[in-house]
Amino acid sequence: MRHQRTKTCGECRLNHVGELVVLNGWVQAVRDHGGLLFLDLRDRYGFTQVVADPAQHSVLSEVGPECVIAVVGKVRARPAEARNTNRSTGDIEIEAIEIELLNTTKVPPFEVDDECRTREELRLEHRYVDMRRRPVLAAMELRSRLNYLMRQSMTEQGFMEVETPILMKTSPEGARDFLVPSRVHPGKAYGLPQSPQLFKQTLMACGIDKYFQICKCFRDEDLRADRQLEFTQLDMEMSFVRQEDVFAVMERLMTTVWRELARGEVAAPFPRMTWDEAMTRFGSDKPETRFGMELFDFADRARGSGFRVFAQAMELPQGTVRGMVVKGGAALSRKQIDEAEAVAKSYGAGGMAWVKLTAEGPQGSIAKFLAADDLAALTAAGAAQGDLVVFTAGRFEPALNALGQVRLHFGRVQNLVDSKLAHFVWITDFPMFEWNEDEKRFEAKHHMFTAPSEPLPPLGGDLSHLKASLYDLVLNGNEIGSGSIRIHQPEVQAQVFAHVGLTPEQAQDKFGWFLRVLEYGAPPHGGIALGVDRIAMILAGAASLREVIAFPKNASGICPLTQSPSAPDTKQWDELQLRPVSGG
Ligand code: ASP
Repeated sequence: MRHQRTKTCGECRLNHVGELVVLNGWVQAVRDHGGLLFLDLRDRYGFTQVVADPAQHSVLSEVGPECVIAVVGKVRARPAEARNTNRSTGDIEIEAIEIELLNTTKVPPFEVDDECRTREELRLEHRYVDMRRRPVLAAMELRSRLNYLMRQSMTEQGFMEVETPILMKTSPEGARDFLVPSRVHPGKAYGLPQSPQLFKQTLMACGIDKYFQICKCFRDEDLRADRQLEFTQLDMEMSFVRQEDVFAVMERLMTTVWRELARGEVAAPFPRMTWDEAMTRFGSDKPETRFGMELFDFADRARGSGFRVFAQAMELPQGTVRGMVVKGGAALSRKQIDEAEAVAKSYGAGGMAWVKLTAEGPQGSIAKFLAADDLAALTAAGAAQGDLVVFTAGRFEPALNALGQVRLHFGRVQNLVDSKLAHFVWITDFPMFEWNEDEKRFEAKHHMFTAPSEPLPPLGGDLSHLKASLYDLVLNGNEIGSGSIRIHQPEVQAQVFAHVGLTPEQAQDKFGWFLRVLEYGAPPHGGIALGVDRIAMILAGAASLREVIAFPKNASGICPLTQSPSAPDTKQWDELQLRPVSGG
């Protein structure tokens, strides 16, 4: 490169007129205006218009979009009628004196255009072209600012950033571990961290007191639309705290982030809502609170109801029947109601009962079972003529979750959400365990290191009502963080291992090292981890996590740029003393 830039493509203004400058960048477009060529030169910082006479610059015959060039030229003011108010450099242009071709390009697979309509897979395959587009670049910039603000806030609040290992002891902590076979220790493997959970708790035993880290975590899960195999967390832990202390740190951080990046004030402290309240009011442990349409209890009316589904649901353990009023819903077609019912079913409800309140009286699947008292209960719940009332019945969690999804469905259909609002809410007092029907055992709702809010029952006792010091931070119906006050006494930790079905030998084998940490004076402690990708996605208003990740995997877990995962060659397998079962 002979000509190194003296200005970026976003820098020149009227006060530079007359200056000799050098710009380096990519050619966005070339336009021919009566023999003169107008080039838009682009870099990370902006666009600058360059004017060149092809007769004087023969190299221009080789220059097309996405070529990389250096331009030596003079800044001059554009004629008034040619000024472009949409660009920061729109008042000037560069009169080319010399043009150096730094690199040519193959024909790009798609145009570097804000409104790119190319399919995502092609964009990700050619991410180096895709990221030259302003919206993708803006997402990367936003993410960089987010990381910076998080680090700044945590550091200002007295937290120390400590890096924890990526190659670590494999530990089943919920999802499946990624394994890294050891060459030096044949037959053994490291696990990639699903989170630095046990290391951060160990750091509390080390006396670090306030730890944080922006770190990568890995979970070998079946992919869903909003999941990635590797993701980024803001991980933190602090000693000698109650849950309110963790909340205060996060509130200070999030209010700063929102002020700086969303240009919106959010008020702290954030509202708190128990898990029970979130489930019964919104049918979700991550409630979207930007609209009402809250659920109401119909259990009293359902007990002994002529409608068998309701009566039977109330006889189940933790059986419930809840309803929801859809304002103006009596006007919905059968097809629209069927769509809502399909949502309920896809989230585990057996069905969705419904009744329309019309001028001719109640109509719909359960109308004939509703007595005057039942109708009075609907009125008390806010239903009036012209409305639709929908119900789900069954066990507490599946029935409410399904109705909660129907609520979100109608919220979308009726356009009830003001997307400018940011509603943060803390969800507290989660159940500590949940029943795994397939394995016929209780498992930890969050993870096994969360402290119970009350003493544990004897082994084999009913764990379904036990609550934990476990909390989530929810924003606009998205879980953006999850954490807990931890167990710090080794006896309690051993009891929890036993309750989830680990034998003492298994507990020793997998977590013996960690029990030892607790045995040597671990302080009371608690923390949380925020999902950085998810927060960036919400701030960017993006539809998918992939939009805010530089080199994401696609929905099948493949990296479209590098085509990983790939098959190791025979030598690599041999060194590990491993062989694929088939194919390879
Ligand atoms: N390690 C937990 C997670 O990744 C978060 C926490 O409890 O701090 O979900």
